[in-house]
Amino acid sequence: MEHVIFSRRAGTDRKASDRKLPLAAGAYLKLRRMSAGLTVDQVANRLAPAPKDRDDSLALVRMLETSGARARHEGTIAALGQIYRFDVAVYRQLCEVPSDRHPVICRGCGCSRHDACEDDANCCHFVSAVECSRCADRAAQTQRLAS
Ligand SMILES: [Zn+2]
Ligand SMILES: [Zn+2]
Repeated sequence: MEHVIFSRRAGTDRKASDRKLPLAAGAYLKLRRMSAGLTVDQVANRLAPAPKDRDDSLALVRMLETSGARARHEGTIAALGQIYRFDVAVYRQLCEVPSDRHPVICRGCGCSRHDACEDDANCCHFVSAVECSRCADRAAQTQRLAS
C-alpha cells in the first residue's frame, strides 16, 4: 500500500508568514488606513480642511507611516483616530514597549483584540499570532478563485 504524503497540502505556504515579526507603529497605522479604504491624500485632506495646511498635513501622514516614526503630539493621534479606526493603546504599545510584549495584531488588516473587524454577524478572532479569521477567510477565498 502506498503512503500518501500530506506535507504539500494547501495552506502550508502560509506558515512562513506566521513567524511573528515585530510590527512598527508606522506600519500599524498604514495597515489600519488601508483597511479603512483610505489613501494618504484622503487622510491628509480630512486632517487639514484648510488648503494652506494640506502640504504639512500630507507630510505628517506620510512621516507617521514610516517605520521608526511616532507621533509627538497626543492631538495628532486623536485626530487620526477620528478619520479611521485604530486602537490608540495598541499604537502606544508599539511605540513604547519591547516587541516581545507587543499585542497580537493581524498583519493583513491591522485589527487587534479591542479593535476587531466586524461584519453583520460577528467579530473576527485570531487564527494565528499574525492573522485574523476575516483575513484568513479572504485568503482562502482568493486561493479558491485562483485554482
Ligand atoms: Zn485581519
Ligand atoms: Zn480582523
